[in-house]
Amino acid sequence: MKNEILGIHHITAIAGNAKKNYDFYTRVLGLRLVKKTVNFDDPNTYHFYYGDEHGNPGSILTFFPWEGIGAGRRGTRQVTEIGYSVPAGSLDFWQKRLEENNVIYNKPAVKFGERYLTFLDPDGLKFELTEAQTPDSRPQWETAAITKAHATHGFHHITITTNKMEATAAILTGVLGYRLLTTEVNRSRFITDAVAHAAIVDLVEAPGETIGHLAGGSVHHVAFRVKDEATLMYFRDQIVKLGLNITEKIDRNYFYSLYFREPGGVLFELATDNPGFTIDEPLEELGSHLKLPAQYESNRTIIEGILPKLD
Ligand code: ZN
Repeated sequence: MKNEILGIHHITAIAGNAKKNYDFYTRVLGLRLVKKTVNFDDPNTYHFYYGDEHGNPGSILTFFPWEGIGAGRRGTRQVTEIGYSVPAGSLDFWQKRLEENNVIYNKPAVKFGERYLTFLDPDGLKFELTEAQTPDSRPQWETAAITKAHATHGFHHITITTNKMEATAAILTGVLGYRLLTTEVNRSRFITDAVAHAAIVDLVEAPGETIGHLAGGSVHHVAFRVKDEATLMYFRDQIVKLGLNITEKIDRNYFYSLYFREPGGVLFELATDNPGFTIDEPLEELGSHLKLPAQYESNRTIIEGILPKLD
């Protein structure tokens, strides 16, 4: 079996108010809450996972909502944009929907030959909805308001803002199997051929830009996808050989992972497909129960009393 990075696995960001975050992603964007759990290091804080019906890798966006956290600031050493793929012709629908829900957005524009629309979530996290040139066959999660003609297909790309373009690019191309596709002005698009979707990483070189401030509305890390634990450990060896620090394998209940900081300063994670979100809830019930890791189960009543109400 080939040792491959299969594009993006998930993206984790920081939010403020939990209920606002939950309402925005499930109702306005129409994602499925596939897991409601807590921060394993801070069990009085939620950890929300949003995605498609199954929570497939490449569709998973996760949040730690910390009430009262101040706003972050986009800058270098950060993932500064999250791109979703949407069906061709759907941007008019999205523009109207964002307008109706008082979301800050920009009118559609074109980048690398693809039409896209930019918006900010309630905490200022920046998104793009892109009508991808290559048809996206990934299954969609439908809601009453957002049907297949408009629903997101999972990630299209992420953008990293860097003042160390070569160092970050070297990790992408030298270790993770990406190649440079094309460059427009200061934006270079890297792609992996290992998967058809969630395969793009854009690097924006911004030498004069200040370092981003991590807080509300910021991406905490991006996770790249591997098939299984053997592949995870193969890539761990590759990172160690470069002399970079990388964690031991960590059990995140729904996947196994490793973390390392790439030389441009962005926290990268590698995460496995196994075991997935149905390990502790049936598919039909994903996200409908508060799932606690075993070490906190005895404190369930206290934790449930502290966590904010979502309805
Ligand atoms: Zn993660």
